Amino acid sequence: MAMIKTICALVLLGLILHAEVRKLLKRKKEKCATCGRVMVERPVKIVAEGEELTFCCEHCAAAYRGRTTHSYREH
Ligand SMILES: [Zn+2]
Repeated sequence: MAMIKTICALVLLGLILHAEVRKLLKRKKEKCATCGRVMVERPVKIVAEGEELTFCCEHCAAAYRGRTTHSYREH
């Protein structure tokens, strides 16, 4: 009986670890919203229309802002 419990505990632990690793991998593979490059370090984050967007650098963030403020320029 004790062995079955140990196996169950190990399976559960494995599932938890698997989920955590997947979460970590997902976070690492965050891509730039402008150029699609995978984030390496210090991603630039801006909130546009209530949505948080991540960019690889200030240039990409500025490019995105320029795109979204297009209607603003027309006024
Ligand atoms: Zn970029």
